[in-house]
Amino acid sequence: HREDSRKELYYQINREAATYYLKSFCQKANPGLTYMLKRGIQPVTLKKFGIGYADGEWDSLYRYFMSKNVDVKVLKELGLISESKGRFYDKFRNRVMFPIINTRGKVIGFGGRAIDDSMPKYLNSPESPVFMKKNNLYGLNLSRQDISKENCAILVEGYMDVISLYQSGIRNVGASLGTALTENQAKVLRRYTKNIVLSYDSDSAGQAAALRGIDILFKEDCRPRVLHVSDGKDPDEFVKKHGRDAFKKLVDNSLNFVDYKISVLRRKYNLDSYEESIDFLKEAAVIFRNLSPIEADVYIKKLANEIKISENAIRLEINGNNTQEEFVTH
Ligand code: ATP
Ligand code: MN
Ligand code: MN
Ligand code: MN
Repeated sequence: HREDSRKELYYQINREAATYYLKSFCQKANPGLTYMLKRGIQPVTLKKFGIGYADGEWDSLYRYFMSKNVDVKVLKELGLISESKGRFYDKFRNRVMFPIINTRGKVIGFGGRAIDDSMPKYLNSPESPVFMKKNNLYGLNLSRQDISKENCAILVEGYMDVISLYQSGIRNVGASLGTALTENQAKVLRRYTKNIVLSYDSDSAGQAAALRGIDILFKEDCRPRVLHVSDGKDPDEFVKKHGRDAFKKLVDNSLNFVDYKISVLRRKYNLDSYEESIDFLKEAAVIFRNLSPIEADVYIKKLANEIKISENAIRLEINGNNTQEEFVTH
């Protein structure tokens, strides 16, 4: 119970920090608000997500908490304050602040986006007794009912993607907090739905994250789909440019995970060459190997038809019937 009351204190301090950032954000002509309005986020949405602004001073939050006699050790543990050469300063300065709120409504941490060219672009709270990145998804506090209702979750990379989609009316959305999707995050999502659409950035990092996400979700008994953002680099840009209905079409046209993996593989090989076709099929067989026999059957038929090879050859390859190996070992 001492542990519980310690956590409650941490939640409370995080909430006070969120309120502090929110107050700065509501002041007229602050650079944070200007930035978010320029990116097309409306006041009602900003309010919904509790977006704040950490001002550019060195230690305004620190002084605020000192006036309330808050223990500096706790502030450091929460990653709100840093110490250098015996001096304390605010960790987040001149940044738009995204409070990360868990499904019980507790503020567990923050993401802070630079509004100029400062690096890093995003600064996130460190792990703390109340913040374990691997267990939480951004936006789920607002979206979990919609995820249940629609029996579908759209998973994106970043804060802005969540907020933009939500604002456009696509509310069954969450983000995996910068890191790749973890096993625990998959388990959390799985409580609300089995149907997950990975909607990552359309760059190579996004593609790699989708491939890893597929495998993690597959282990949790999900059969995810992958959406490709056809224009713009991420869902935020796409939905701002083309609107909600166009994004919904992308969801409808998303590939199931097997077709997605095959399409990624296909791009690696020149299928006009016999040699490369063989390597392609061998790698495809590895993808099919993890599927149930019925699932595998569907994809084997499809691929055999496309590549003009016998279904049986693919089946033998999947089952590891390799005569050469037998020849060597016997
Ligand atoms: P914006 O979010 O302003 O639209 P962006 O789309 O270019 O910029 P990405 O680089 O795609 O942002 O980042 C997506 C997400 O990854 C962010 O929302 C953040 O959660 C996380 N992220 C990005 N850069 C960092 C970083 N340097 N440190 C920690 N997390 C980061
Ligand atoms: Mn990216
Ligand atoms: Mn973006
Ligand atoms: Mn992005």
